[in-house]
Amino acid sequence: MNKKRQNIFLQRREKRKSGRSRSAGTWVLSVLLAALLCLGALSGCQKTEKEDTFKVVTSFYPLYIMLMNLTDGVDGVEIANMAEPQTGCLHDYQLRPKDLVSLEGADLFVANGGGMEEFLSDVLDTYPSLTVTYLLDGLHEEDLLPGEDHAHDGHDHAHAHEEEDFHEETEAADSLGKLPSGVVNPHTWLNPELYKEELQYISSILSEMDEENRESYEENCASYIGKIDKLTAEYEALKEIPSKKGCVLLHESFAYLADAYGFPVMETVDVEKDSGFSAREIRQLIDLVREAGDAMIISDSQYSGRISRLLAEETGLVTYQMDSGVSGEYEKDAWLDAMRGNLEILRTASGMTSGSAVASENRVKDPEKPADSETGSREE
Ligand SMILES: [Zn+2]
Repeated sequence: MNKKRQNIFLQRREKRKSGRSRSAGTWVLSVLLAALLCLGALSGCQKTEKEDTFKVVTSFYPLYIMLMNLTDGVDGVEIANMAEPQTGCLHDYQLRPKDLVSLEGADLFVANGGGMEEFLSDVLDTYPSLTVTYLLDGLHEEDLLPGEDHAHDGHDHAHAHEEEDFHEETEAADSLGKLPSGVVNPHTWLNPELYKEELQYISSILSEMDEENRESYEENCASYIGKIDKLTAEYEALKEIPSKKGCVLLHESFAYLADAYGFPVMETVDVEKDSGFSAREIRQLIDLVREAGDAMIISDSQYSGRISRLLAEETGLVTYQMDSGVSGEYEKDAWLDAMRGNLEILRTASGMTSGSAVASENRVKDPEKPADSETGSREE
């Protein structure tokens, strides 16, 4: 039993009870905080804070799934998720008053880092008693892939330079989690090996903060990692394919999956998370994809898929829609199911199977596409 850690935990609770300091922020932030205070006042009388509850809040879906597994069956732990489960990646996320309410009474906030939660950067400072931990801080600098700022843009041959800049920037960082958006590719959970390291890291944080449940966290972590290992063992042969098809990624998320299984990434054109493309930009994109040769176009199922369908029609290449595990039902096996589907697609695309994943190829749901107008917006 580590007394010191327990004391820190108790002190944090005391601080929380004595109220939070709120530094002056932007106007929007002030409005949000005011809204939060109103909500707090309204719910004041029915609020009976459970002093012995360890409350963990995650920023978005994949992290919540992770915590569901790590805290399964552990007494006295309450987990909550900030963004709705269908939100997807948080790249363009707008903070809502209700998100701040979810942070009320939290002991630990688990964020992805690497810019995924940039919308919260000013807000977290207003919760001095909240412990914030970033998944990315559980990883090694050399395991990270460069983000948009360092992605090589078409064929400008500036690739080596970008790599150097990227490593300089990540090596100099005190915290990989606190790196701003664009420096690193933050979708690390799509590499099973990195995902396991992150699980172990978060499990160690939970164990430190809630010492009496250490054994349960460790058992849960080991059991979940066992399931992950069982899954990846089934797809080990993917790593051994002698000549692999290249990938054109329409969202940088799958760079980690491609990297884990040795599929060369020909181009990453991070078009899906942005909405609004001119006809000229789309033509450039088509040329870029044509240049990549016989590649598989991989799109992310969190986006509408309109651009991938357009590319498939124009280039004749097959598109595969993969699941980055960023939205869905709150189910413990959600990551495992998403990853199994993705690995199955890689197996099919590599001609290793009779094709149970063919259904996800070239799904044309929306034939009346206005090719010259804005495309790429989310389907809701
Ligand atoms: Zn993303």
